[in-house]
Amino acid sequence: MAGFRSLARQVRDPGCDTALRRYSLRKCLERFAPYGHRATWDHLCRRHRFGPEDRELDPGRLIAALDELEEARAVWLAYEEEFAARRRREKQEGLRRLGALDDWHRRVWGGNGVVRCGDPAVHPSDPLPEVLRRLIKALESGPGERCPVCAGPRIEWAGPGDTYEPSLGPVCGDCGVGVPRAVLTSGALARARGERSRSLASAA
Ligand SMILES: [Zn+2]
Repeated sequence: MAGFRSLARQVRDPGCDTALRRYSLRKCLERFAPYGHRATWDHLCRRHRFGPEDRELDPGRLIAALDELEEARAVWLAYEEEFAARRRREKQEGLRRLGALDDWHRRVWGGNGVVRCGDPAVHPSDPLPEVLRRLIKALESGPGERCPVCAGPRIEWAGPGDTYEPSLGPVCGDCGVGVPRAVLTSGALARARGERSRSLASAA
């Protein structure tokens, strides 16, 4: 299986035909896709103005999309490296901190679905590196009350039957990202759960 870097080289290769370069860009998302594969693809298509069936596609747009994706990946991998080093140091000092944050890190290691969007059409429109920097800031500063990406106050709880299904949990009602529990206070989590059971009760 080709790695991210060799796929990226194909996207930039003027000797490859444009359809293959687009395909390679899409394959990059199997290695790194912060919103999940479909939502990250939707984001790149919209932001760099190309469609999945575009016949007259300007390869420059694919390269601009790749630049954005690569920068986001560098931001995230640097954070992961830092996180892993911190955990190693703690282990040497005899501190074992295996909590919810570590579980979450294991699940999204490498950057897939760090802020997964269940509905591929609903995701932030800001550049990906910026979104990840905001998430990292939230992860490093501890639990808060609002969405780490858009600062929106509407944290909802996705459950069976919702569009957002892969893992049930808190979702931002404004920008659509799945919010890692570790960045929310227990109060914010309880409120999101409470809203959901109230709306289920009134629908019953
Ligand atoms: Zn949000």
